[in-house]
Amino acid sequence: KPTVILVIGMAGSGKTTFLQRLNAHLHEKQLPGYIINLDPAVTKLPYGAHVDIRDTVNYKNVMKQYSLGPNGAILTSLNLFATRFDQVVGLCEKQRDPPLQYIVADTPGQIEIFTWSASGAIVTEAFASTFPTMIAYIIDTPRCLGPQTFMTNMLQACSILYKTRLPVLLVFNKVDVARHESCLDWMADFENFHQALDSEQSYAATLSRSMSLVLEQFYQNMRAVGVSAVTGEGMDDFMAGVTKCAQEYEEQYKPELVKRQ
Ligand code: GDP
Ligand code: MG
Repeated sequence: KPTVILVIGMAGSGKTTFLQRLNAHLHEKQLPGYIINLDPAVTKLPYGAHVDIRDTVNYKNVMKQYSLGPNGAILTSLNLFATRFDQVVGLCEKQRDPPLQYIVADTPGQIEIFTWSASGAIVTEAFASTFPTMIAYIIDTPRCLGPQTFMTNMLQACSILYKTRLPVLLVFNKVDVARHESCLDWMADFENFHQALDSEQSYAATLSRSMSLVLEQFYQNMRAVGVSAVTGEGMDDFMAGVTKCAQEYEEQYKPELVKRQ
């Protein structure tokens, strides 16, 4: 069965560019993949999608028809699409020649439209009940160099993990601009993180300090890779991470799923 990679991340973290890179990588390695775009508001896709939400719902029309702003229209478009998502899963199941190895889905620019909506949950569960499914959480590394923005990003990843219960791979993107090693150091040992915060005595800094103790357990179970969607650096590490996450799905998520059914 193919592994589903759900690409999630803050707006501008590089999800779409990463999908373009991943698509090229799969082609190069001759790994059959199926690409799904779930962002109704994207104007230009830099990759060829097999399933594109824009073919089914017109986001501009939704905006007019329901008198919505941009975010409301994105959410409504996703809701409309989610009602038929079983058909998308059906299409994925039918691709047998050649047998798919990966299904990759791009999500809307604004992270909470996917992670905090009923339709995001419907899409996630439809995949996770059918295929080994994992989340690639894309992080804008240049914006993670400050300890507090780093903490914000980790809390977001943590909440996605607890909400979906799926294996999460942290993907530190844009390493061509800024290296991710300092982030890995902060995850490996909270004392390193405290050093970075040391001069700060604000309430937020104190909170970050306490949070890092709480997150230690979370970090230990979390896989992380550094990539550049632009240069292609780190793609082999990424694929290795995906394989480990798929194993984790089989060992941890699947038994829970069977129990629930
Ligand atoms: P999305 O909103 O998460 O889909 O982000 P996009 O893929 O649209 O990327 C946002 C911006 O970041 C664009 O200007 C991209 O060119 C840039 N970007 C994405 N990945 C990388 C990367 O690995 N390195 C660099 N330097 N820029 C990147
Ligand atoms: Mg995008």
